[in-house]
Amino acid sequence: MSADTTLMPIPGPVDPVPVPRAAPAREDGRVELVGLSREQIRAALEAAGLEPRQAKLRAKQLWHWIYNRGVTDFALMTDIAKTQQPWLAERFSIERPGVVEAQVSTDGTRKWLLKTHDGHDFEMVFIPDTDRGTLCVSSQVGCTLNCRFCHTGTMRLVRNLEPHEIVGQVMLARDALGEWPSQPEGRMLTNIVMMGMGEPLYNFDNVRDALKIVMDGDGLGLSKRRITLSTSGVVPMMARAGEEIGVNLAVSLHAVTKEIRDEIVPLNRKYGIEELLQACADYPGANNARRITFEYVMLKDKNDSDEHARELVRLIRHYRLPAKVNLIPFNPWPGAEYECSTPERIRAFSNIVFEAGISAPVRTPRGRDIDAACGQLKTAAEKRSRAELDRQAEEKLRALG
Ligand code: SAH
Ligand code: SF4
Repeated sequence: MSADTTLMPIPGPVDPVPVPRAAPAREDGRVELVGLSREQIRAALEAAGLEPRQAKLRAKQLWHWIYNRGVTDFALMTDIAKTQQPWLAERFSIERPGVVEAQVSTDGTRKWLLKTHDGHDFEMVFIPDTDRGTLCVSSQVGCTLNCRFCHTGTMRLVRNLEPHEIVGQVMLARDALGEWPSQPEGRMLTNIVMMGMGEPLYNFDNVRDALKIVMDGDGLGLSKRRITLSTSGVVPMMARAGEEIGVNLAVSLHAVTKEIRDEIVPLNRKYGIEELLQACADYPGANNARRITFEYVMLKDKNDSDEHARELVRLIRHYRLPAKVNLIPFNPWPGAEYECSTPERIRAFSNIVFEAGISAPVRTPRGRDIDAACGQLKTAAEKRSRAELDRQAEEKLRALG
């Protein structure tokens, strides 16, 4: 494990997992207001010296300016006294993550390279469609897990993103799309998927707090039905995700045998397929109207045979899962050791699942030309050899117990 990764228990009925070091406080000493609940904003104002009654009123006003109007400057808050605006600006930050670079794909997909206040790069992607627009949000800088087909998995885990950095991605997208003030109708940004860099269930508290704000009807106002959290299978956190966040669940299954899943999703050695599927069957809120999505990356000659497709159907039936399957053509990246299955193979696989009455669309790769597609996200991290990555994966798994 790298020197700046420490063992720290996540709250809840789980064992210790390697988590990155906490985000440092801002160098300028200001407190981030984005990502705090109304009550936390009020408490922060009181702690800074405002009278309780004033703190309560100001918290309400700030919430409105931040989440309904999208302002990033206290000087624009016209119902806050001119003399108090600089007082707030000295003590609090309502800034967005920094934008290092913004790219647009030939298919309209946009990718942003972002920077945290302490200098770490991460990415976010916006995928426009005719009837909707999906923002792919990152939860960590890097990832503790090393799925072998994923470019992010080759990154060192740097740190968890804080609530303001997660909510900040959504707000930045609204800035770019010109979608302030918040309004329920006619938005381009309609859906959110927690499918950017990182494993959201290894940053549970921050992801939950951030998504609560994203879902707040008086704030960013996205319905939980339009938000999907994707996990590689952190079984002990799945029930809490259902209870405390309540968004749609996507599970990165990718293989139906222990041997293959152990290889391509190493977390499987800790939480196996049976345990994972049982946790899916128990996921609060899953039913035929709100199905669990199983993501399945199509890797040539690895996990893509007819037999694998039939086993997938058997498993879904065995656990009586309200499921749909999302087949993802493998997106290549420099140094990847896999190839994408042929279109014919993907179609044959999809047909077997579909004929069993389970929806199995093939996801159209988006933004490949700017490395914005699934599994292509990776920011400045030193190049490492496969052998070193394997060694790291082993160490991380040992740390998982
Ligand atoms: N860490 C979470 C969410 C981020 S990844 C998870 O693993 O679920 C979002 C999806 O992209 C996951 O299903 C992931 O397995 C998949 N993916 C990763 N690398 C990929 C690649 N190179 N090609 C296609 N899909 C990939
Ligand atoms: Fe991490 Fe998800 Fe990539 Fe696996 S697929 S390495 S869990 S980001």
